[in-house]
Amino acid sequence: MKSLSILGATGSIGQSTLDLVRRQPDAFSVEVLTAQANVDGLAQAAKDVRAKHAVIGDESHYAALKAALAGTGIEVSAGRAAVIDAAACGADWTMASIVGCAGLEPVMAAIKRGGTIALANKEALVSAGDVLMAAVRDHGATLLPVDSEHNAIFQCFERQNAAQVRRVILTASGGPFRQLSADLLGKVTPEQAVKHPNWSMGAKISVDSASLMNKGLELIEAYHLFPVTVDQLDVIVHAQSVIHSMVEYQDGSVLAQLGSPDMRTPISYCLAWPERMSAPVERLDLAKIAQLSFEEPDLVRFPCLRLAKDALAQGRGAPAILNAANEIAVAAFLDKRIGFMDIPSVVESVLAGYDAPVPATIADILALDSEARRRAAQQVEAVAA
Ligand code: NDP
Ligand code: MG
Repeated sequence: MKSLSILGATGSIGQSTLDLVRRQPDAFSVEVLTAQANVDGLAQAAKDVRAKHAVIGDESHYAALKAALAGTGIEVSAGRAAVIDAAACGADWTMASIVGCAGLEPVMAAIKRGGTIALANKEALVSAGDVLMAAVRDHGATLLPVDSEHNAIFQCFERQNAAQVRRVILTASGGPFRQLSADLLGKVTPEQAVKHPNWSMGAKISVDSASLMNKGLELIEAYHLFPVTVDQLDVIVHAQSVIHSMVEYQDGSVLAQLGSPDMRTPISYCLAWPERMSAPVERLDLAKIAQLSFEEPDLVRFPCLRLAKDALAQGRGAPAILNAANEIAVAAFLDKRIGFMDIPSVVESVLAGYDAPVPATIADILALDSEARRRAAQQVEAVAA
């Protein structure tokens, strides 16, 4: 039996993970589930999988969670520190699926215990890539990529032949606005942005997919996860989301991983690794799909991808600033305070005006993240006024 914890159990990735766990009750024992504010979802999940411990990040919900789990024997805690402590409970396997840089300290706490971490929380890796990967090495932890592109690359990347890798090609669906003109892009609503054509996901990553910031964050994620240079990373738009990414070798071979757009495939790959397990996903019907199409991404209509590429090339604190400013801008867009095309403007102006010192520790990154948020909030005010 494998013991596991899910950080961000009430989200889209958390729920998909719970679905797989519920189907194999004898294979897994659940240590901790966490959420931020969704008491009902957390309590239900904790009862379903008989978790030992449920943690709610927002302390004001402690009494409600305690009441919802009364008589079950499930331990209840609340608060930011409790989430971080829960991440360090020493489970064999931890799903890191909190959204945003808020997941960074919990991920680090899990890494320090040296178990296996299935990483969905890309913002943690974007903000703190060097520090986080060094901690993985120092503590003998195993990091498995959940993001579908990185999971595909992980399946196709022959580490023993790393010197023979020519390129890593990330596929992008192009999101719901792939074919929209620049004029119309300025007028899209949050409701339209969160309706992804192929994938069902949380609100923040759905907006990132629509702006192509998601692909930019994923380039930075890939840079840290695999032994490649910035120049070896490429993006191609592939609207069907059938090929999840590719690795091209010097001999001309291109290895790809294909599958239905269902996160339960990469999650189950991480759950069973280094073995495989069955997952309840729709099988690929290639004859029905009939055609796979590819096109270059448009960096003019989708400046977020360009900004992320520049931040990756610049290195230092730039990826953390990019991520923090984007989190603030996306939240303001979802609140209808700024328009869709204000997202890249806010990010660009924060990046341009902030010459941060090189972060060397998690404390440095958190300081940089919080200053970038403050500046982004000011930009939002200026745009919204
Ligand atoms: P959701 O918004 O659906 O879920 C986020 C989870 O994090 C919820 O459990 C939420 O709790 C919790 N949470 C939110 N804020 C905080 C906080 N400040 N502190 C602690 N916990 C918090 O997100 P997704 O599941 O879509 O995405 C999770 C991560 O996985 C993101 O980093 C995303 O980029 C990545 N990812 C997601 C994919 C997808 O298909 N959804 C695909 C690839 C990567 P509550 O419900 O109580 O608010
Ligand atoms: Mg992805």
